[in-house]
Amino acid sequence: MEILEYARPRSMDEAFRLIRERHGTAIGGAAWLRTNTKTMALGVDLAGLGLEYIREAGERIEIGAMTTYRELETSQLLKARFGPLFEATVSHVVGIQLRNIITVGGTVAGRYGFSDLNTTLCALGAKAVFYPGQTVDLADFIEKGAETPFLLEKILLPASMKASYQQMRISENDFPIINTASAWTGSDWRIAVGSRPAATRLCKKAMSLLGDDPYPSDEKIVAAAHAATDELQFGSDIRASASYRRETLHVLIRRALMEVRG
Ligand SMILES: Cc1cc2nc3c(=O)[nH]c(=O)nc-3n(C[C@H](O)[C@H](O)[C@H](O)COP(=O)(O)OP(=O)(O)OC[C@H]3O[C@@H](n4cnc5c(N)ncnc54)[C@H](O)[C@@H]3O)c2cc1C
Repeated sequence: MEILEYARPRSMDEAFRLIRERHGTAIGGAAWLRTNTKTMALGVDLAGLGLEYIREAGERIEIGAMTTYRELETSQLLKARFGPLFEATVSHVVGIQLRNIITVGGTVAGRYGFSDLNTTLCALGAKAVFYPGQTVDLADFIEKGAETPFLLEKILLPASMKASYQQMRISENDFPIINTASAWTGSDWRIAVGSRPAATRLCKKAMSLLGDDPYPSDEKIVAAAHAATDELQFGSDIRASASYRRETLHVLIRRALMEVRG
């Protein structure tokens, strides 16, 4: 990665203007950006904007775009509200050194197919807040992206939720070959699946099949796993075939739903 001009804005306004008007590239942890060999005309480093936080805000929890995976993994607030969910989601990502660098903002903005975190965020019904104040459903953003250059400011989560993250990797620290997260919102179920190897999608048919019953039977859970694997598309790549992904996912969805149901 070569950066021809580097800017470190002091305000969100300035960062947004550089991205929107001068086509600057936002720099989060730069762990992913530096893996490509492109030349960046203008790099806009978001490090000085105070976007590193995990905090309560009324009925929600806010996570700033520059929050690192290690901060998610070790946050006592997230642990108190979601149990070991965030630790389970990010702890397989390479090593602590990398998790100290990579950011929530770079992950959501990138909409990567292999993402562990985006699957959990979609299952929780997270919202993405774009500066200067547009809030969108994060699962919608992962599916459709944005039409114009954007600056992601933070993620909004519900105050707490019972949820489970499950993944399969051929070897620890590699990308997942399939992953899923399930959550009981208090009134309905949410199921998200990522690394198909395409990006995370919600399993809407499986979610509606489970309905509003917090304690679905084992049979209903198996039926939901079938519905999810039927409604999604899977692909083959160097890590796994589409059919291997589909078979594995069936087991992971059952595990996740049973863990949340208890
Ligand atoms: C070696 C390696 C292994 C990895 N393995 C895994 C894995 O197993 N599982 C997994 O889930 N992930 C994995 N990742 C990806 C990682 O989790 C992050 O998703 C990725 O590195 C992006 O985060 P970043 O902070 O590095 O973003 P950057 O590299 O800084 O940015 C990535 C993109 O997001 C844009 N961007 C960044 N912040 C913002 C913002 N606030 N607003 C708008 N746009 C923004 C940038 O312009 C760029 O296009 C891996 C990454 C690396 C480098």
